[in-house]
Amino acid sequence: MDIITINDLSVYAFHGILPEENKLGQNFFIAAQLVLSTREAGIKDDLSATVNYADVCHFINDYTKSHTVKLIETAAEQLAEQILLKFPLIKKIILSIRKPGAPIGLPLKEVAVTISRSWHEVFIAFGSNIGDRAAYIDHAVKALKLFPQIRLETISDLYESTPYGNVQQADFLNGVLGLQTLLSPYELLDTLHKIEQAAGRKRTLHWGPRTLDLDILLYDNIIMDDENLTIPHKDMLNRDFVMIPLNQIAPYKIHPVSNKAICELCNTFPQDDLHIIKE
Ligand code: AMP
Repeated sequence: MDIITINDLSVYAFHGILPEENKLGQNFFIAAQLVLSTREAGIKDDLSATVNYADVCHFINDYTKSHTVKLIETAAEQLAEQILLKFPLIKKIILSIRKPGAPIGLPLKEVAVTISRSWHEVFIAFGSNIGDRAAYIDHAVKALKLFPQIRLETISDLYESTPYGNVQQADFLNGVLGLQTLLSPYELLDTLHKIEQAAGRKRTLHWGPRTLDLDILLYDNIIMDDENLTIPHKDMLNRDFVMIPLNQIAPYKIHPVSNKAICELCNTFPQDDLHIIKE
């Protein structure tokens, strides 16, 4: 990836804890490193294949002037998200906001905050075995599409599978989808839980029947494990109804714990165990 750097754009804005700051305003200096591929634009000398840094500077200026918040942390958080949403070629931004006139009653050169935000590649497994299973899955896809911080990219076929565990229950419809998101792993988990609840999901039996189940399989190359969230998903490598659809949409994605490609990890599953319900 390449970087376009914007150095210290001066913006007169009204951020601050003190009412005088919100009323009188002051100068802020904003710097941004925009991470994207400039290869095509560089070869073709074509502005339309890159991000126009003049547009980004005007956007920063307009947004910062028209949205007043108390903290420079919040100003940076909101601005970084808005830039990533507005300019789809930008994959990552490192954004600094400097406040030279911070009124702290001491001689201070400046105070500054620097944050790094980016789109993250995520794979989610979905499943349903109660009621109109395809409709619940459709509901999940539509609900995910409503979030600007989520961009749905790929979705596997729907596969019918016999239930996992010891509970007697109807067959599942399963699949996997790939998306890009600005949400953190916990924010994403919370969002998935809300979508499950909206589909009438009740958490009763472990591995029991469910209207809708949404699990985070992979989130970039993150490896994490605590009482609420394990990534990569703990059981994914044992589940044909996860690995076969994942292999369909991301065969060369590396599972960061085993360090093997999904297609390699999928070799052990008989491919005719599951049957495709809807292309
Ligand atoms: P489930 O029954 O599959 O919906 O999972 C129940 C709980 O598993 C959730 O409340 C999560 O806190 C936890 N969990 C741990 N790791 C994950 C993950 N990778 N994706 C989704 N849920 C997870």
